[in-house]
Amino acid sequence: MIFFQSLTKADLAELLLPLSAPRDRGLTDDEFEKKRAKRAKFRAQQIFHWVYQRYVTEWDEMTDLSKDLREWLKANVEIFRLTERVNQQALDGTHKFLWTLHDQKTIESVIIPAALQEKSGADAVARLDGRDPGTFRDDEEKETEATQMQKGVRFSGAKTDAKLNEGQWRRLTACISSQVGCAMACKFCLTGVQGLDRSLQTHEIVTQVHELRMRAPITNIVFMGMGEPLHNFENVAKACEILIDQDGLGFSKRKVTVSTSGLVPAITELGKRVDVGLAISLNASTDEQRSAIMPVNKKWNLAALMKACREFPLGPHRRITFEYVLLKDFNDSLEDAERVIKLTRGIPSKVNLIPFNEHSGAEFKRPDDIRVKAFQRYLLDRGVTATVRISRGRDILAACGQLRSIFGTARGTDRHKDWKELPVLQNHS
Ligand code: SF4
Repeated sequence: MIFFQSLTKADLAELLLPLSAPRDRGLTDDEFEKKRAKRAKFRAQQIFHWVYQRYVTEWDEMTDLSKDLREWLKANVEIFRLTERVNQQALDGTHKFLWTLHDQKTIESVIIPAALQEKSGADAVARLDGRDPGTFRDDEEKETEATQMQKGVRFSGAKTDAKLNEGQWRRLTACISSQVGCAMACKFCLTGVQGLDRSLQTHEIVTQVHELRMRAPITNIVFMGMGEPLHNFENVAKACEILIDQDGLGFSKRKVTVSTSGLVPAITELGKRVDVGLAISLNASTDEQRSAIMPVNKKWNLAALMKACREFPLGPHRRITFEYVLLKDFNDSLEDAERVIKLTRGIPSKVNLIPFNEHSGAEFKRPDDIRVKAFQRYLLDRGVTATVRISRGRDILAACGQLRSIFGTARGTDRHKDWKELPVLQNHS
């Protein structure tokens, strides 16, 4: 049985080719082949629409396909589904999902809402000043979300929450996993502590988005869940192709971002293979510092990483995002900020500062807000676009790998025996 979500539209058309012979007689071989290919392509497009845009998951319900074709699809192609094991919502609207795969392994995906900003005063002022409104969003989002919480506005799914469709959120970002666990062993990351179990197949990656889309009008995709996406290159690249297919899930290439810890040859390969956004998990301003928390840096150092970023093909008005987890008294000084400016100089980019999301057993601490602001201000004053990402969903353990470490099959689960004490706001499982 082939999983539907592992197929690009071209793969599906090829599969349907033997079933798409034209009935017209008197065609030359060439005409016959052309017509057959056209029919197969049309059918593939029809099926993509049914599954990805009309969310139909039963072949029998695809009423404009012939009965023979539906029978063939039933016998040969399975529309893959993930089993929802946990669905938790945090006070800030963040939704975290834990899915069970066919082999009983578990992965997680998160929906992160960003509140509408355009109507807000600070954005308007920023626009008038010619400054990037994004630089104000951390405070603004808190404010807007607080207001929304008071009003009782909650994200609860595209089909059921009219308020959501009225534009309560500026965007809904799906943060998805590419592996079960991760081999990169970054010291600040809970998934890194767990180690790699296995890489996900294309259909397991695409289906995370497909399942989330059935529940909410997702606008952006980031590969920032469990796993190093470029350590699973083929499956991630193919999944990206399916995500940006306009007959499929239909994401704009500007709205899909692959985040990497710095597998340099794969960054170059990604640039050649598929046109999506790139984020780099930077997290340090010197090689010594970076190698201490990210072993990948021992293989490809900052110079090699920055060279790959400089050479990465970027379309007009597109930028690389440098993610920078701020660790108290480790990488959060103004000297670090200065070095970050030097490292990223000449690369169309923005820096996303993420105050460390503390978890039980973590060896790092979160810097206080004053230090975070000072770091951001230092970058802004020197012309670097810098945002501060609020640690979303802290009440539901939104840091990478945390949910799975409690409910899942990860190693080291005894680190989190206290999970029952967590405030579970909603659990639809
Ligand atoms: S931060 Fe990313 S690359 Fe590093 S261990 Fe965690 S999941 Fe893997």
